[in-house]
Amino acid sequence: SDSSPPLGNAQARVDLAAVRSNVVALRGHAGAAEVMAVVKADAYGHGMVPVARAAIAGGATWLGAAVLEEALGLRAAGIGPDDARVLCWLIAPGADLEPAVAADVDLSANAVWAVEQVAAAAESAGRTARLHLKIDSGLGRGGATAADWDDLVAAALKEQAAGRVQVVGIWSHLACSDEPGHPSIAAQVEAFTAAVRAAERAGVRPEVRHLANSAAVVNLPETHFDLVRPGIAAYGFSPIPELGDSAHFGLRPAMTLAARLLLTKAVPAGQGVSYGHTYVTDRPTRLGIVPIGYADGIPRTASSRGPMLVGGRRVAIAGRVCMDQVVLDLGDLDVAAGDEVLVFGPGDRGEPTVQEWADTIGTITYEVVTGIGARIPRVYT
Ligand code: PLP
Repeated sequence: SDSSPPLGNAQARVDLAAVRSNVVALRGHAGAAEVMAVVKADAYGHGMVPVARAAIAGGATWLGAAVLEEALGLRAAGIGPDDARVLCWLIAPGADLEPAVAADVDLSANAVWAVEQVAAAAESAGRTARLHLKIDSGLGRGGATAADWDDLVAAALKEQAAGRVQVVGIWSHLACSDEPGHPSIAAQVEAFTAAVRAAERAGVRPEVRHLANSAAVVNLPETHFDLVRPGIAAYGFSPIPELGDSAHFGLRPAMTLAARLLLTKAVPAGQGVSYGHTYVTDRPTRLGIVPIGYADGIPRTASSRGPMLVGGRRVAIAGRVCMDQVVLDLGDLDVAAGDEVLVFGPGDRGEPTVQEWADTIGTITYEVVTGIGARIPRVYT
């Protein structure tokens, strides 16, 4: 078909209609709250700008970026403030924030120095910066501790009075939203609510209070507040695999990783396969070479496992994953060089899902898709 990869080249096909419908489904889960599609890390490996546009088409009114380059990339691609608010949350000490303020990117502050850095950038950009104050409600990562919260709020209000910033958001992030019933969830909601109240008492009037990532969007309505921040679910992966698969939550995996057999060849019994000869053929068979390896995000821990779908059958990787290639033991499969190999996809053709890959190699779907290497072209369908 037209979307088949050229010989020797793997490709990641990204179904933008799936992204769009996943965001529609998440809006359904989110009730009255608005949706921020989290598109950091190249949209979890799916391609930031096309995914952002698909998410907006599905009703996302906000986009989430970790680093400045991502936020500026969205604006540079022509996604304007009327299309979506963009929030950028990792502000490094000394970073030049003026381009972000000028591009109407919302910025987050964890600490008083960050408020001052945003205010200085606003001063030089000649406009008011939109600021979100982050409270550490219990994750133990970014955000001000409860002990530092009042100082952070006071610093922001001082800059707001001077016209340099407008505090538009108060936010936090959950530690265990994917573990239903975990006691930290209620504790974080309570700590977050207390921080919001304290800020409001001090005079902050936030447009948006936001706490929920994907697992919380689909399972914890008490965390929704005004805005939710799904990432993994927008790409169609189950945010709580122990509660249900993608379809259970109304989601569809957007990415299919495909390649073509580069070479097939007959070998005798007793042939050692790939580095270290950790696999040895136990019968005369045919080997198939697939041009994708650990440099492309197929982890070496998938050696002798996998599997991949070829010729309608799931076939384990034979021996070690190499940098650019893996070998399959094809047995009696009637396939030839040029035939398609599916590494993973939504699963409806029998191919493994990203969830299965993650389970096999002992990680999470997030790490599998963000690990797909830069030399794999993203093709939009
Ligand atoms: N909010 C923040 C601050 C994040 O760092 C992330 C990603 O880790 C998300 C939301 C989205 O999380 P998830 O992909 O679990 O929905």
